[in-house]
Amino acid sequence: MTEKRKCPKCRAAKLLPIMYGYPMEEALEGARRGEIMLGGCVVHGNDPQWGCAACGTRFLEDDGGGLLPSEGPWGKKVPPL
Ligand SMILES: [Zn+2]
Repeated sequence: MTEKRKCPKCRAAKLLPIMYGYPMEEALEGARRGEIMLGGCVVHGNDPQWGCAACGTRFLEDDGGGLLPSEGPWGKKVPPL
């Protein structure tokens, strides 16, 4: 369903869509399978939509479809689920 995109930083084809909000069972299952990332319940309004499973960088998608690395309070590593 979701096309695999490449990480602009480490070139791994492991960009995953980040899902926000309280995770339903379906989202948890997807995260366990490595299909999505969980962004947490709190939405700030300008949150990255993509996360790299290889290097942990999260990215904002701009209007042209480009990906901008997003430095946030989550740091470099995404904690393991
Ligand atoms: Zn990466």
